[in-house]
Amino acid sequence: MILIVDDTPENIFTLKTLLELHSFPTDTASSGEEALKKVLRKTYALIILDVQMPGMDGFEVAEILSGNNATKDIPIIFLSAINVDKKYITKGYLSGGIDYVTKPIDPDVLLLRVKTFSRLYEQNRILNEVQDNLRKEIEYRKLAQQEALAASRRKDEFMSIASHELKTPLASMKAYVQLLERSLDKNDKVSSYVDRMLIQINKLNALITDLLDVSRIENGKLKFNQSLINFDGLILNAAEMIRQTFPEYQIRITGKSGIQVVGDENRLEQVLLNYLTNAVKYSPDCREVQIDIRLENNLVIVGVKDFGIGIAKSNQAEVFRKFYRVEGSEHRFQGLGVGLYICSEIIKRHRGSCWLQSEPGKGSTFFFSLPAAIQPQIY
Ligand code: ADP
Repeated sequence: MILIVDDTPENIFTLKTLLELHSFPTDTASSGEEALKKVLRKTYALIILDVQMPGMDGFEVAEILSGNNATKDIPIIFLSAINVDKKYITKGYLSGGIDYVTKPIDPDVLLLRVKTFSRLYEQNRILNEVQDNLRKEIEYRKLAQQEALAASRRKDEFMSIASHELKTPLASMKAYVQLLERSLDKNDKVSSYVDRMLIQINKLNALITDLLDVSRIENGKLKFNQSLINFDGLILNAAEMIRQTFPEYQIRITGKSGIQVVGDENRLEQVLLNYLTNAVKYSPDCREVQIDIRLENNLVIVGVKDFGIGIAKSNQAEVFRKFYRVEGSEHRFQGLGVGLYICSEIIKRHRGSCWLQSEPGKGSTFFFSLPAAIQPQIY
């Protein structure tokens, strides 16, 4: 809508007819005061403002409009009998949106300017709308992010409390079952049930320990006890433990590092046991697992190779993510999808890295590397 402000009714009539003939909707005011009242109530795309009016003149009207946030951006075309120097035009409008047409009006010139301003107004309107929407979108996302963060914190807290609370009764349950096991005759049938019960209790204990580790990582509370470790010995021990747990599997070791590393022995053993348990778990049809150790550029590199189900290329980058389990195999194999996440955090804290090579149907090799320097390495 265009507001025509002129104290001469004939001028208003001429302008109104001209603009409406070219499909511009118009409104009129016959004084500066009336124009101000209208501008405060309605939104106008443009004001055509006569400079010389009795009472408040065109420049005064523009001055007031420029001082108001809601009206300062409405473009104005001044109409004047004399050519007024642009510097007289109010300062608030110097940023743009102002023009000047002398009387008698040339309809073509006026129309051209009106069209230019209308286009500008429309573009500005769209831009503002886009900005508004963007602002809303940003606000919305910020809020969603805050909510997600709060929910994630609550989940972490819950996980931490729940796993702590589960540990205590489980520990006493295990102690009682062990007492029961000792009091039973080995040949008693019940004894084999108790043994199976212990296996399940140990599994449950391992799951809860993993969950506690995840929550410690999340809260930055995963503690390390640093010591100098004979690295090859660490591998031998871990391999031996797996041999005892899975006697049907052959665990072969090739290569050796011949070095010591500084780190947390229990945590590094945890990584090895996790890699090895996975190698066994995810290769139900092949009973062989290989461990390869080598020293390269001051890095000790360990590879745990299995000949199991393998992992498709598209899933390989994800396996070290928290709670990630490869789709399709998650129903066949039990697990929480946190073991490799914990491993990668432990290795990262020892300034090393984890990666894998794998081919579906042929098997996987999970690697980790550690710096061989005998300097404190955990950070
Ligand atoms: P979990 O074994 O408890 O699911 P992990 O974090 O140890 O959790 O492993 C994440 C996922 O990576 C597993 O669910 C499995 O899909 C895949 N994965 C891990 N190790 C192997 C492996 N040796 N062979 C094939 N897939 C594996």
